[in-house]
Amino acid sequence: MKQMIPHLAALLLGLSLPVIAGEAPAQRTRPPRPEGMFAPPGRAITHVKGDVWRANNGGWYVAILDTPDGLLLVDTLNVDYAAWLKEELAKQFPGKPVKYVILSHSHWDHTEGGKIFADTAMFVAQEGFARNMDGRYPQLPGDITDRNDDGWLDAAEFDEPAYERPWYCGGMGAIGPKDPDGDGRITPAQFFVNTPRPNITYSDRMTIRFGGKTIDLVFPGKNHADDGTAVLFRDERVLFTVDFPADALVLDSMRSLPSACGPFDGHPISEWIRSYRTLETLDFDMLIGGHGTVPFTKADISEGRAYFEYLRDQVQAAMSRGESLEQMKQTITLAPYQQWRHFETLRPFNIEAAYQNLQTFR
Ligand SMILES: [Zn+2]
Repeated sequence: MKQMIPHLAALLLGLSLPVIAGEAPAQRTRPPRPEGMFAPPGRAITHVKGDVWRANNGGWYVAILDTPDGLLLVDTLNVDYAAWLKEELAKQFPGKPVKYVILSHSHWDHTEGGKIFADTAMFVAQEGFARNMDGRYPQLPGDITDRNDDGWLDAAEFDEPAYERPWYCGGMGAIGPKDPDGDGRITPAQFFVNTPRPNITYSDRMTIRFGGKTIDLVFPGKNHADDGTAVLFRDERVLFTVDFPADALVLDSMRSLPSACGPFDGHPISEWIRSYRTLETLDFDMLIGGHGTVPFTKADISEGRAYFEYLRDQVQAAMSRGESLEQMKQTITLAPYQQWRHFETLRPFNIEAAYQNLQTFR
């Protein structure tokens, strides 16, 4: 998701509503999960191209590379799913241990559970992944930030964005299972209890040669995450990326407005545009990833980059005309994108996020 924060939204599935201190439970309600907003549940391993496969948990996907020397995975999603995946891989690829797990970025909904492969696998990630696990409050999607600035991850910090913008922001329920004493707050170390620590990190690019295959790991820049890795399966010319450029709101088309929570996950629009451009320079025919039910193309990436450039230009022009944010929400119609998914809901939030972003990052 570019912006997963939207993808976090999908974590909000039907969990019981926590009570925020000082508020009556009856006031803490949010609308039911919108029909068709996310991919339906279900798990399967499906062929992509050559020796590249994907396996899904509803609308969340991992990548699998099958080689004579064993398997390489990108992501493991969660503890329960990773256990299922390990059993299924043993059936479908017998005698082939998982030798590498690439961790696409440090958000819990893509990389928890990986430790189940620690008996055979090395874990590889961009260096920011280790920084996010160093004990400080990590970068998180969905406008989840350390709102009370105490260094702990609070349930309210996960929930509040989900009440403010239901099904687009927030991560309701994400700390509950890691909070055994139930006081609604955990340390960063507790938050990462199910996340493997990378054995190998890189900064900009790294190439792995494994089982006769060449796999490039590329840090495109900061966007949805600050530690993202794009994985290029060079032999198949398949690029696998997670939450950027396709966030959890993307189903079968990349023509979907970014959720813009955070705003834009706390990273400059210029970094988002740089990230798109980095991916556009790579040599591939097919883009698949952690979200999206169908393969995409380089043209889809270029459209996403053009959207951010257009949004930036429109908001910059309005700022230079001296318009207020409320005026911008009237004058900036984003008309060329009105057929994109979530347009009606997300247009004003995109304008607001761009406005805040361009004020913050000069
Ligand atoms: Zn994410």
